[in-house]
Amino acid sequence: MSPTITRLTRLATAWDAALEHELPAAARLREELHAAPCVSGHERPATDRLIAELGDVVAFEPVADAGAVGRIGPAVGAAIAVRAELDALPVTELTGAAFAADNGAMHACGHDVHQAALVALLRAARGLELPVGLVPLLQPREESYPSGALDIVDAGVLDRFAIAHVIGAHVHPGVPDGAVASGGGFINAAADEIEIRVRGRGGHAAYPHEANDTVAAIAQIALGIPEVVRRSVSPLRPAIISIGTLTAGEGAANVLPAEARIFATMRTTDPADRATLFAAVQDMAGRTAEAYGAVATVRRIEGEPALINDVALAAGADDWLTRLGVDGAQPMRSLGADDFSYYCDAVPSLMLFVGVRTPGEDPQPALHHPRFLPDDAAVGTVARALMAGYLAAAERVLGIEHHRNDLAGPVGADA
Ligand SMILES: [Zn+2]
Repeated sequence: MSPTITRLTRLATAWDAALEHELPAAARLREELHAAPCVSGHERPATDRLIAELGDVVAFEPVADAGAVGRIGPAVGAAIAVRAELDALPVTELTGAAFAADNGAMHACGHDVHQAALVALLRAARGLELPVGLVPLLQPREESYPSGALDIVDAGVLDRFAIAHVIGAHVHPGVPDGAVASGGGFINAAADEIEIRVRGRGGHAAYPHEANDTVAAIAQIALGIPEVVRRSVSPLRPAIISIGTLTAGEGAANVLPAEARIFATMRTTDPADRATLFAAVQDMAGRTAEAYGAVATVRRIEGEPALINDVALAAGADDWLTRLGVDGAQPMRSLGADDFSYYCDAVPSLMLFVGVRTPGEDPQPALHHPRFLPDDAAVGTVARALMAGYLAAAERVLGIEHHRNDLAGPVGADA
């Protein structure tokens, strides 16, 4: 075993033991954060609370409005960032917990767990010799636009802190309780919105030959969209366009409207498909409208890019998780979206999914459900997932080729 791997293994053993001591306080902090949720764009009280909790560990500076960033470990050289999202959702909590929120907002996406886990991880690192700088990213506005992750990237934080990799972990009821899913490659879709407006000559419903039927045109376009997807993107690469809004007319039965509109979400998993599919929709909508004597304008509102996990980081994290005594799980791939993908787009990064359970609920409530409430154990598992990600990224920064055999034994066995 190489001396650097030995050093990382000793660090993991000491860090994991220190983390265990931090978990009871972290569980209490999580309840406090849960009771005082802040919605997107209004996260300042949460940020202040976390900065106070880490006052003797990290010097933070503000970023992206309510966000904060700092650095521990070596002050120079490449660093590894670890993200926690700050925002809650505008959901009225129905968990009935003693620490339930009563302000009309709720940590229904588990970001309270992520914050408490990051605090525990950083507090546990006190007195340890980290081989690579660790940069906590307290990120606002994950749940709404403009994206806090994009703001952090655009603010030049990755360059300024020499961030080589970003690690994130998200609780998920779809992963077995206590297990962690990594998985290299595609994890979440790119999420763009498409607006199609068809304009023509409106008129009297009894004289359709003197007008352009924008309703018929928009209906044809709506039916044509699945065909465009099917014929533009390989069936081996998931992609969808779903129409969420279709409008035409103002309520009258006897007026042909001059305008009709589709508002849809486009999810693609391969960066090349993103441009190709939009161009194909644009072309189809334009030609279809033209066939009705109308004109279509098609606009793309760009959202998150696809979330692509770095393959080597995922494999490395899996091995460190095993050594930390955490079970692995099948990767959580979906056409959902998370703005963590902006970090993946900038530097090789890794998003992990942590299996959690809401006690007493069957079936288990989904993310964003008003009864979603992971138990305390989730804090420790998220912290260990982040630790495993840091250790895998540290191997990369230190230039260690990842050899599975080097990491065969459990943490704690002397290397
Ligand atoms: Zn979330």
